[in-house]
Amino acid sequence: MIGAPGAGKGTQATVMSEKFVIPHISTGDIFRSNISKKTELGIEAKKYIDKGLLVPDELVVNIVIDRLQEKDCSNGFVLDGFPRTIPQAKALDQQLINANSSIDYVIDVEVPDEVIIKRMAGRRVCPKCGEPWHTKYKTTLVENICDRCGESLIRRKDDDPATVEKRLTVYHDQTQPLIDYYRGKGLLVEVDGTKDLKEVSKSIIATLEMGKCQ
Ligand code: AMP
Repeated sequence: MIGAPGAGKGTQATVMSEKFVIPHISTGDIFRSNISKKTELGIEAKKYIDKGLLVPDELVVNIVIDRLQEKDCSNGFVLDGFPRTIPQAKALDQQLINANSSIDYVIDVEVPDEVIIKRMAGRRVCPKCGEPWHTKYKTTLVENICDRCGESLIRRKDDDPATVEKRLTVYHDQTQPLIDYYRGKGLLVEVDGTKDLKEVSKSIIATLEMGKCQ
């Protein structure tokens, strides 16, 4: 699942994970969980995340490769926020070749920057279970309380407006080249992420069920 920060890739990854009964692997969630536990990885990653920068490839790749070898990934998985650079994509390709596996689809959730900036203002997350919420587009039953686990929601530090701008620049410079990379491999599915989130899910599911890539 590829997309700019705030494009809704995490939300769509959750839907796909439930629909196809496969694990949802979010590198952002892995980092946030390490940050809250104050692990060595979390302390190192936080230095980059809080500035809106990408965590260096060497810190990300091995975590994902280890995670993909866990038993629950044997029937597939949805990767959310990984790969984010060409070297990460190449490391993933190599690992999948080694494991005699492959990527079926790369879903690019397309949203213009100006829409992202407006959306980010309402973004919230559960600090306990990691579920993403939104004050307008994905509301909780009780204001500011996670429906899944009852924890009070927070705004991520990297969702503040200046950091969002930096993250968008980093996205265009380092992650967007992956779109051509995967288009060239015939794996890319582009969806309009400005639509209602249920519409976006429907269009992703319909495309996957038809087995159609660009
Ligand atoms: P996300 O929740 O996917 O937006 O990720 C939050 C932050 O974690 C990003 O802004 C990056 O700083 C870092 N991060 C997550 N995934 C990666 C990745 N694949 N490569 C480098 N940094 C990442």
